[in-house]
Amino acid sequence: MTCALALFSGGLDSILACRVVAEQGITVLAVKFVTPFFGYELLAEEQEYAEKVRELYGIDVVLHDLSEPYFAMLRNPPHGYGKNFNPCIDCKILLLREAKRLMAKYSASFLITGEVIGQRPMSQRRDTLRVIERDSGCTGILLRPLCAKTQEPTFAEREGLVDRERLLDFSGRGRQPQMQLAEEFGLRDYPRPAGGCVLTESDQAKRIAWYYGHYPTVRLNDIRILLFGRHFQLPHGGWLVLGRDAAENARLEELHDPGDYLVYMPERPGPMGVLHDAGHPDDLAAAAGLVVRFGKKMDAASAAATVLFACAGEERTLVAEPLADLIFQEWSL
Ligand code: SF4
Repeated sequence: MTCALALFSGGLDSILACRVVAEQGITVLAVKFVTPFFGYELLAEEQEYAEKVRELYGIDVVLHDLSEPYFAMLRNPPHGYGKNFNPCIDCKILLLREAKRLMAKYSASFLITGEVIGQRPMSQRRDTLRVIERDSGCTGILLRPLCAKTQEPTFAEREGLVDRERLLDFSGRGRQPQMQLAEEFGLRDYPRPAGGCVLTESDQAKRIAWYYGHYPTVRLNDIRILLFGRHFQLPHGGWLVLGRDAAENARLEELHDPGDYLVYMPERPGPMGVLHDAGHPDDLAAAAGLVVRFGKKMDAASAAATVLFACAGEERTLVAEPLADLIFQEWSL
């Protein structure tokens, strides 16, 4: 039996691409690559996710964590970044390269994506689609069922593994043909087009770019921490992150590097902080002042609080007043 491996984002186009090919009696396995920038939370609930996708769309999906190679690519994507810190072309190249590598594992004869020519300004132009194929080593083995008829026949069509006549000729930015096809497949509960990738979100992307500019090696949990909480670059190089609620405080405790300080007020409700690169005493004082500032408000007479710094079994305390907003405004990341 012929098997195809699909790059699965979870968006409507990737769902439809899988269904169009599966309609021809081909076994389609969807691979959803995840990194902290997209889809990472699914790793904690892989089975539930797979069941949901099967139930809603009739598609079998597996997750693959691509974090480490993605971190390396993001530092210097050969085709550059989009509007924010999104390396869309190199992202697709990397995903396809990995998918190609997985073909042997899943006995797949060809690859599928839900790309539609002309749909996205940067990554889905005709010439860009060719570059993505070429640089991922997937020329000829990548079938784009939603726009196949606008492209040269691929290996799967030439070899008669799929019937080209039953593939589609979508192009451009309009969503109507996709919505109509979804209707034909009886798909109603599908995700609306929306981001889903933090590298395209300007605030998050700026913070990630800042991290890449400051640290020569990327730590997975640092990236996960970058995506929530309040962040400050302290005047002497320290990086302080404060939780904004109990859930974020708990996550910071869970994800912090053992070499970093955990910073908090042992006697007063307030944020959990993680302090990275705390080499300078002024940064410790600033971190303490910020923890008190974002702690539970106290009347002026008792505004100062004890702040504990804990790292690798060692503890020290500082007594600090809340830091004035004017002082730390420019430190926000
Ligand atoms: S938006 Fe994000 S996930 Fe999508 S191609 Fe661009 S970088 Fe990759």
